[in-house]
Amino acid sequence: MMSFRVAERTADALLTIDLDAVAANTRLFAERTAGELIAVVKADGYGHGAADVAATALANGASRLGVARLDEALALRDQGLSAPIISWLTDARDDAFAPAVDAGIELAVPSLAHLLSLARTDGVAKVHLHLDTGLARDGAEPARWIDLCRAAREAEFHGQVRVVGIMGHLAEADDPAAPSNSTGRRRFEWAVDVARLCGLRPHLLHLAATSATLTLPATHYSASRVGAGLVGIDLSRTTRLRQPMTLTAPLLAVRSVAAGTPAGYGHDWAAPRATRLGLVGLGYADGIPRSSAAGAHVLVRGRRVALAGRISMDQLVVDLADTGAMAGDEVTLFGPGDRGEPTIADWAGWSDTIEHEIVTRVGARVRRSVTATTLAVGARA
Ligand SMILES: *Cc1c(COP(=O)(O)O)cnc(C)c1O
Repeated sequence: MMSFRVAERTADALLTIDLDAVAANTRLFAERTAGELIAVVKADGYGHGAADVAATALANGASRLGVARLDEALALRDQGLSAPIISWLTDARDDAFAPAVDAGIELAVPSLAHLLSLARTDGVAKVHLHLDTGLARDGAEPARWIDLCRAAREAEFHGQVRVVGIMGHLAEADDPAAPSNSTGRRRFEWAVDVARLCGLRPHLLHLAATSATLTLPATHYSASRVGAGLVGIDLSRTTRLRQPMTLTAPLLAVRSVAAGTPAGYGHDWAAPRATRLGLVGLGYADGIPRSSAAGAHVLVRGRRVALAGRISMDQLVVDLADTGAMAGDEVTLFGPGDRGEPTIADWAGWSDTIEHEIVTRVGARVRRSVTATTLAVGARA
């Protein structure tokens, strides 16, 4: 009673990245802030390709780049991006400071240890003193700020560093009414005052990321660091952004099953009626969250169909119901949503996470294709 049809010509799963969407989002953010736009392209541009997102952002209103780690900054230089780059998550003992300073990478300084390391490094590092404005994470504790500013002034006096900026980061900017936003902002302004009293003249003051840029104009100062927004993610849910990513895969095989046929590991799903099941060659090793299986849908032949059973490492099964879908048909896991396909936000909801986690986890074996109509990708020249 079971019948198989196998696709004659199997194509791989394909992640398409529409850089025109990144370009449009960048222009929106550049318009929303009076200050400079720092395009944050950490974690491979939130999974969209760091160099591509960087070049697109710089061509559409961003003037600077930001990354967490030094190796990310150096990789952008290697790919031909010459714009100012700031890197904010470094090890105070990092012997990579020398190549970074040599490559003109600007560094966030969250501690005296970082400052002293940089002061010992050849060349004059451009630094941004980094205050913790509420995350208890990578910025300097407020109690250490005065000492840090004094030491930075001293190092600047000796020609060892140049303090060009002050940065902070907000914990709850996606909820503009949260009291911690004004607390963070007051701390930040206090930090700028202290720095000036110590004789520093930082010109780049940056506190806002995506949400604060959209919802808290008082946090804009002279620059915003925007990452998620460039790739269409807005946790403040206030702004319509364009979605660059589309993930598709062919149906590798289709089979008919009787009512009650179980599918997948653990047999926690069984066909509620006689139906047809389709096999898709994407699994949790490709970034499809295993925890999403119960709620997840995909688009086949213009219709949304549910997953059948658990998501495996390399594959998942969908209940094709009466779509008439055949082996070889294209399945859309997510995209902008305008053809009825699920969005990244849907997948985030189904797996109880945020969109950031979905986009940064698409696996290395998924083939990628970048599309752009308007772009000269400098990094590729
Ligand atoms: C990731 C990050 C950003 C970018 O935040 P988005 O909300 O993605 O715009 C800005 N600043 C710091 C310190 C970050 O870690």
